[in-house]
Amino acid sequence: MIYLDYQATTPVAPEVADAMRPWIEDKFANPHSPSIAGREAAAAIEVARGQVERAIRLEGGSVAFTGSATEALNWALKGTVEKASGERNRVITVATEHAAVLDTCEWLAGQGADLTVLPVGPDGLLDLTDLERELDERVAIVAVMLVNNEIGVIQPVADVARLAHSCDALMLCDAVQALGRVDIPEGPDLVAVSAHKIHGPKGIGALWMRKGAEPAPFIHGGGQERGLRSGTLSPALCVGFGAAAKLASERADSDRQHVEQLWAAALEVLGSRWTINGSIDERYRGNLNIHREGVDASRLVADLRDIAFSLGSACASGSGRPSHVLRAIDLSGRTARSSIRIGFGRYTTEKELVDALTRVDAAARAQENLAA
Ligand code: PLP
Repeated sequence: MIYLDYQATTPVAPEVADAMRPWIEDKFANPHSPSIAGREAAAAIEVARGQVERAIRLEGGSVAFTGSATEALNWALKGTVEKASGERNRVITVATEHAAVLDTCEWLAGQGADLTVLPVGPDGLLDLTDLERELDERVAIVAVMLVNNEIGVIQPVADVARLAHSCDALMLCDAVQALGRVDIPEGPDLVAVSAHKIHGPKGIGALWMRKGAEPAPFIHGGGQERGLRSGTLSPALCVGFGAAAKLASERADSDRQHVEQLWAAALEVLGSRWTINGSIDERYRGNLNIHREGVDASRLVADLRDIAFSLGSACASGSGRPSHVLRAIDLSGRTARSSIRIGFGRYTTEKELVDALTRVDAAARAQENLAA
C-alpha cells in the first residue's frame, strides 16, 4: 500500500514506538500516585509536556494533555464562553474550520451564544476586513485554524489574534495540521494540537493555554492537570506524544525540505491536467487537494484501493457529510466530486509518490477515454 493520507493520520515514528514500549509493557504505575514508580511516571509525563511545549514554541503558557484535539477544541470553546461574563457571549469562527470547532460552536449557539461564521474567498482565505467588521466588546472568542486539514490553506492567525485582542476577546487556534510543519505565530491564547498528526499515537491531544487564559474545566473528577482537566493520564501516550514532538522539532527543517521536494515532483507528474483547490501560495505543501473536471473521484478511489488517498468531496472527519470546505471555496458539487486529497510527508518517498500519482493520472485518463 502507498500511504498518501497524511492529513487523516500519520505513521507512528519508530522512535515513538520505542519510547512508548516500556510504559506499555512494564511500567504500569498510576502517575498520580506517590509511590516511587508513580513518581517516575509523573516525571516522564513532565518531560513529555516540555517536549510538546517546545514544539509549539510559544511563550507565556503551558499545555494540558487531553484525549484528542477534538476534546481540546471543545474545552477551549465551551470553557471560554462559560468563563466570560454575561454580556460577552459572542463566538466568531470561519466556515472552513474542522467539525470539532464548527459543531461545538453550533452547540454553543444552541445554548444561547451569538455565533458568527465568517466566509472565505475562493482561495480559502479569510478576509480580515470581514473579521474586523464583526468584532465588538461582546466577542468572547475567535477561533481560526492555522493549516486547513482539507485544502492545506494557511490562515493569517497572527493578524486574527491581534484583531481579537483589540476588543479583549481570546483567540483559539486549531494548529493540529500545523504542528511541526508550519511555525505557529505569536498571538493565540489557546492552541489545540494532536499527537497522531505528527507521527505520535492516537488518543492524545493537548491544549496550550496562555497564562490567565485557561478555560473553565470541562471534565471534572480527580483534579489532574492542575485541576483543569481531570482523568488519569496515560504515561505511554504522553511519552509517545513527547517523543513525536521532540522529533518534529529536531526534524522540522529536513521534513520541510523533503515536503518541498515531493510537492515539486507531484506537480511535474500532474502537469496542467489537474487544478489545485485553494490558494497555491498560502499553503502547506504536504497537502495536494486537486480536481480534474469530469472525473469521478469516488471511482478513482475504488479503482486504486492499494493507494490510500482521500476523496476531496467527503468531509475529512469521516462523518460522510459532503465537504463544507470545498463548498465554502465555491466549488460546484460536480467539481467537488472530481476532487481528491493527496497528503504526504516524512516517510513518503519520491518514487512512491510519483508511482502513485502516475497511476491516479492514468486512471483519470481512462475514465475520460471511456466517456469520450
Ligand atoms: N482539527 C484538525 C484541523 C484536524 O485535522 C483534526 C483531525 O482530523 C482535528 C482537529 C481533530 O483531532 P483529533 O483526531 O485529535 O481529535
